[in-house]
Amino acid sequence: MSISENLSNIKATIPDGVTLVAVSKTKPNEAILEAYEAGQRVFGENKVQELTSKYESLPKDIEWHMIGHLQSNKVKYIAPFVSLIHAVDSFKLLKEINKRAAQNNRTINCLLQVHIAEETTKFGFSANELESFIQSEELASLANIKIVGLMGMATNTDNETQVKTEFGNLKLLFDQFSSIKTPNFELETLSMGMSGDYLLAIDQGSNMVRVGSSIFGARNYKI
Ligand SMILES: *Cc1c(COP(=O)(O)O)cnc(C)c1O
Repeated sequence: MSISENLSNIKATIPDGVTLVAVSKTKPNEAILEAYEAGQRVFGENKVQELTSKYESLPKDIEWHMIGHLQSNKVKYIAPFVSLIHAVDSFKLLKEINKRAAQNNRTINCLLQVHIAEETTKFGFSANELESFIQSEELASLANIKIVGLMGMATNTDNETQVKTEFGNLKLLFDQFSSIKTPNFELETLSMGMSGDYLLAIDQGSNMVRVGSSIFGARNYKI
């Protein structure tokens, strides 16, 4: 099936109010343009260099999301244009995003990555760290970032019950912190769900799904 057919099939399964991020990592510009021609405007990448070069060569009304682990020393390359950073996992990183956003006279929207999976390899705040971080004065002092949501990745397993529980736990945290509203903190976006589990994630309250291989086909090389 073609990219545009895949896209319309997936869109048919996604309710209004859920944003589809088309994850185009490792895929060529032609593939992105095919999705673009079909109306898709939100794309996600997980490598700074690839994101920057695609931004430079593709239409300027694309909303680019950085979905992968981001190193502080690379923030400067995406700060001029990135529309959402999904995987903020430390105060150090957030401080750097704030600094580069200020240099570009803008505010950069961010999601805090929360560690919900059993695997120890995945990045993110624990539920406890999140609570103290959200209430910290350090966070309040950053005027050029806005925390607009949370992001999480479930364990890579066939065990649907486990995945459901992990997503459900993140939704509980999201609801818990949604009552807090400050100038740079207001939760609206809950980014969870990928090709294999996005329907489960939506059932559990996700309103932003990051779907790659179901749109563009399997990735051929390691990411
Ligand atoms: C690659 C990636 C996705 C998309 O994965 P698919 O299984 O291809 O849909 C989603 N989120 C993140 C953070 C990714 O790195």
